[in-house]
Amino acid sequence: MKDFTYHRAESLYEAVTLLASTPGAKLLAGGTNLLDLMKLQIETPRHLIDINHIGLDKVETLASGGLAIGALVRNADLAAHPIVRRDYEVLSRALVSGASGQLRNRATTAGNLMQRTRCPYFYGTTKACNKRLPGSGCDAIDGFSTNLAVLGASSSCIATHSSDMAVALRALDAMIVVIGPAGERRIALSDFHRLPGKTPHVETSLDNHEIIARVELPAPIGGRHVYRKVRERASYAFATVSVALIAQVKAERVAIDRVAFGGLAAKPWRVEAAEGRGFGHPGDIAEAAASVVLDGALPTVHNRYKLNLARQALHAALIDAQERRT
Ligand code: SF4
Repeated sequence: MKDFTYHRAESLYEAVTLLASTPGAKLLAGGTNLLDLMKLQIETPRHLIDINHIGLDKVETLASGGLAIGALVRNADLAAHPIVRRDYEVLSRALVSGASGQLRNRATTAGNLMQRTRCPYFYGTTKACNKRLPGSGCDAIDGFSTNLAVLGASSSCIATHSSDMAVALRALDAMIVVIGPAGERRIALSDFHRLPGKTPHVETSLDNHEIIARVELPAPIGGRHVYRKVRERASYAFATVSVALIAQVKAERVAIDRVAFGGLAAKPWRVEAAEGRGFGHPGDIAEAAASVVLDGALPTVHNRYKLNLARQALHAALIDAQERRT
């Protein structure tokens, strides 16, 4: 690990001011990803600004009927929050499927959004990786790409985003509120994570000196909420494919209100044209929606299986919704 200095910020204003005035500084919240990356010298900040004591740790209702989630609300607390469990169940379920209990106790809402890819070549510091070292190439493309992207990838990078929480937030039309030296800015989650293009090292639309302050959710939309995650180990693993689903059920038939996928791309993948197409049997609805969602997919020889897995995961999620009593 490279040497760095440490400063404990006591307010959001202090954190924003320090971040803007300290070249090479990074924010430290839960540290569940950043500290690992520092040990591997993939991240080498010269200064750490600890923001664990600046507030931003509340979940509050909004006048609009929605919910404001502070950037530093821990994943475990958010998953267990009674309003989240009642009105945004897909979010609670996604959070609980992520990482381990210990990690969820530390990991924060903002940190979850900002986590880096788990592409094995990104962590293999002897390998070429445009995300870690821009312009160095991408060993994953002709390498072992079994858990990498099938949608939205580029000739520079085929990494996926690893968050479960973000997939549920995408289905819920979340808005990210950020604070910087110029004041407050709102970014729809759909625009927050960037596809790799020619600049895979630029992963979000957050400016260098901005801090995520909170995530806002619109008023609840009802429906039956399901989060289904397919992974290599049930105990603790990142998604191979995941589905955040909000569905309606009428007799034996189901309809998709919202659906977003994880594990397929560098951002949560949602295609609104696959939603709101009426009621049908789960198999038929899954097939029709998956065809829309997966249109344009460019899998590698190693991860072609994800296309069928995404279809099957959606089918299973629709059956989960159909069979749920509440
Ligand atoms: Fe790096 Fe992206 Fe290639 Fe993985 S897929 S090695 S993260 S450039």
